[in-house]
Amino acid sequence: MAACIFCKIIKGEIPSFKLFESEKVFAFLDIQPLSQGHALVIPKFHGEKLVDIPDEQLAECLPVAKKIAKATGAENYNILQNNGRLAHQLVDHVHFHVIPKPNQQEGLGITWPAE
Ligand code: 5GP
Repeated sequence: MAACIFCKIIKGEIPSFKLFESEKVFAFLDIQPLSQGHALVIPKFHGEKLVDIPDEQLAECLPVAKKIAKATGAENYNILQNNGRLAHQLVDHVHFHVIPKPNQQEGLGITWPAE
């Protein structure tokens, strides 16, 4: 979709710190990270909410999130996916947050939305 910032990131029209790219999936660092290594994993297929994405386009997203979570080395992390404004979705292109928890914050849990 022309106006979607994440579609522009996929096309390279908006710069990002890319972590992974395949035919169906793109992953990059969040511009306002909640913790060091906070990443976003997105299907290249444009859809606003989870239910808008065909299964075959979604299938690779969680394995990529898993790879990134592992790569951060964090023992504690959140995988988060928001749908709709009341659920704190700001960007209307489906995305999975990978939010590592620094070891010194073990057990504190995530503050969401960010303050
Ligand atoms: P949401 O609240 O929709 O689940 O999260 C959207 C996320 O996208 C936020 O964490 C925000 O920081 C991130 N974000 C928004 N615009 C950009 C951008 O232009 N580049 C990057 N890398 N992240 C963005």
